[in-house]
Amino acid sequence: MLTQIINARILTPQGWLKDGSVLIRDNKILEVTNCDLAIIGAKLIDAKGMYIVPGGVEIHVHGGGGRDFMEGTEEAFRVAVKAHMQHGTTSIFPTLSSSTIPMIRAAAETTEKMMAEPDSPVLGLHLEGHYFNMAMAGGKIPENIKNPDPEEYIPLLEETRCIKRWDAAPELPGAMQFGKYITAKGVLASVGHTQAEFEDIQTAYEAGYTHATHFYNAMPGFHKRKEYKYEGTVESIYLIDDMTVEVVADGIHVPPTILRLVYKIKGVERTCLITDALACGASDSRKCGYYGPLDSYHGGESGNTFGGCDTHGIRNACPHNGST
Ligand SMILES: [Zn+2]
Repeated sequence: MLTQIINARILTPQGWLKDGSVLIRDNKILEVTNCDLAIIGAKLIDAKGMYIVPGGVEIHVHGGGGRDFMEGTEEAFRVAVKAHMQHGTTSIFPTLSSSTIPMIRAAAETTEKMMAEPDSPVLGLHLEGHYFNMAMAGGKIPENIKNPDPEEYIPLLEETRCIKRWDAAPELPGAMQFGKYITAKGVLASVGHTQAEFEDIQTAYEAGYTHATHFYNAMPGFHKRKEYKYEGTVESIYLIDDMTVEVVADGIHVPPTILRLVYKIKGVERTCLITDALACGASDSRKCGYYGPLDSYHGGESGNTFGGCDTHGIRNACPHNGST
């Protein structure tokens, strides 16, 4: 069965396409064309001028639909994944906030089981911590935060196959050895919840850290100590051309002006949009899983990251909003 969507603004790698159409067969996109003439025999859908954008690859997301990936169970995973699939996500790397090793192992087991299913949207596990700078812990569970410990990360990576990304603060003792080890295992090393300055970031980059976790958040920018000025983690990451960044484009974590700056300096090739959604994302729930009620988190600034949908960030980053 062929389906044709017409009368939409379609985002393609070459820019926006008007008066084109999207052809779908067996739930897979067959073609995006610049022609909107109706195809005989195809089921026609009139998008009435709405946008069609590629499906989101969600690389930083804690939960959704009222469930948190830290729960580790198959049921929690399925509810959260389904909630995001209903809002524009087509593949997903579930994120664990700073967790204990038994919690990571439980979630890894569930992730591996789901990854083995045909056409699974689950592509791997993302660990946000627990090797972070306590001063920048933010909403993380402080009891779980520590320095990188090879006695726990080496066996974990030897015995699991699904961990694809691990975030750490590069200024911690043992963080360089950690970065080298995980990148050798094919895991993306990302800097986050950090106070790293330029030398730390440069050394970290050489040790394999190539990505920045929720850029601008839980990391300092340009600042003053007594009369002296210092670059922050943010400027240091800008100075390493090849480092990629991710931004929570909800208009709260990063305002539209800063989103424009990120785009101007890092460009579309090195910038990811993320939701960093909590359990209350894509749901009516006011509970943020391990973070307590929504009103007490981030001073009650729910934003669409926590309570809304994945397409909101894409909308914010679209040119008509002046953000890019
Ligand atoms: Zn996060």
